[in-house]
Amino acid sequence: MKPSLSNAPKQELTDFEIDQPDELRPLSLGLLVIQPSPFCNINCDYCYLPDRTDTRRMEFAVLQKTLERVFSSGLVQHPFTILWHAGEPLAVPLRWYKEAFEMINTYPGAKENIQHSFQSNGTLLNDAWCEFIKGNQVEIGLSIDGPAHIHDYHRKTRKGEGTHAKAMKGLETLKRHGIPHGVVSVVSNEALDHADEIYDFYRENDINGVGLNIEEVEGVNRASSLEVQKGEEKIRNFLTRMYMRNKADGFPIHIREFETARENIVQPEINLHPDGSFANLEVEPFSMINVDCFGNFSSFSPELLGQATEKYTTFNFGSMLSNQIFDATQNPVFQRVLEDIESGNRKCAETCEFFQYCGGASPSNKYYENGTFDSAETMHCRSMIQIPMEIVLADFESDLGLNPEPL
Ligand code: SF4
Repeated sequence: MKPSLSNAPKQELTDFEIDQPDELRPLSLGLLVIQPSPFCNINCDYCYLPDRTDTRRMEFAVLQKTLERVFSSGLVQHPFTILWHAGEPLAVPLRWYKEAFEMINTYPGAKENIQHSFQSNGTLLNDAWCEFIKGNQVEIGLSIDGPAHIHDYHRKTRKGEGTHAKAMKGLETLKRHGIPHGVVSVVSNEALDHADEIYDFYRENDINGVGLNIEEVEGVNRASSLEVQKGEEKIRNFLTRMYMRNKADGFPIHIREFETARENIVQPEINLHPDGSFANLEVEPFSMINVDCFGNFSSFSPELLGQATEKYTTFNFGSMLSNQIFDATQNPVFQRVLEDIESGNRKCAETCEFFQYCGGASPSNKYYENGTFDSAETMHCRSMIQIPMEIVLADFESDLGLNPEPL
């Protein structure tokens, strides 16, 4: 997930007391993930969230404390994104967000510099939500896997009914209000033979921003319907077909995986810090902070929030109610996680030719696929980083006449 930090700052965000330890500076926050509730109104069978039947909601005292901790941490130096996530964000009443946004906007510069973002199943979208989304310039992406028979295979209600019709109604409501939107599609085994059908679905429905999430082993989703060792060729064929269809049409659809690959090839420096190190929100401590609805917080991949594991107990590094954010550096679980992530990244640097473009990718995928952060390649990075890069590179070479083999 790539947060949008493209808006230029219009007003200073800082002037708060700073409690960031000297040895960690100059870290800055790129993404604050807030879980307003763990609840989801539907029940996709590949979902990684453990408590999605829990209807409890974040109390405003918890949100207030979270904002105080974040703004006094010294981490707020640039525009950043608040992603309302880790449950269905629109399952929380609109009036809750109205109050929450009012609270957030009392912080200097917040209104101009914070990009709010929802990733939603779309089934609860209505005119009132759209007015709020538009009025607050909230980014919204819908989770739609393609045409009904593919989407409804996994994305069902608790009664086992498909959710495609309601999600499409949500999409139509967004369009009617002229709200820009993207779609994230989970690519499961059932989708792999249907690249053309899925591509046509995007085109027929004027969907021009797409993220393709290859189904992951993550959280409580202990097995993916895909296994890269058996299915890599199918994944490659699926992605190649998507790319070629899009190319034949003049690239009307921004497919995140290929756009990222293209950027990495053409402008590799955009992912680098001024000192030449790779900027990766999921790997750098506190660049991403994830807060559950009770105020517990973690860093690194948002998918780790609230997950119980044998090796690390939970990934809670502290509570916004009782700890400063950097108190986490004294937490043995945080120290162990950071040590293992850094060691895994060194393995990536030593073994992977894509490291300079990837920077080590997602710790949660390493943990859930390989059993440890201290590891390198995963099915996730093969499918979502390496193969898209190989496809785009092969296409560039073919256009330049350097590769006689057509894609
Ligand atoms: S592509 Fe995979 S193996 Fe290579 S650097 Fe990224 S995470 Fe590591």
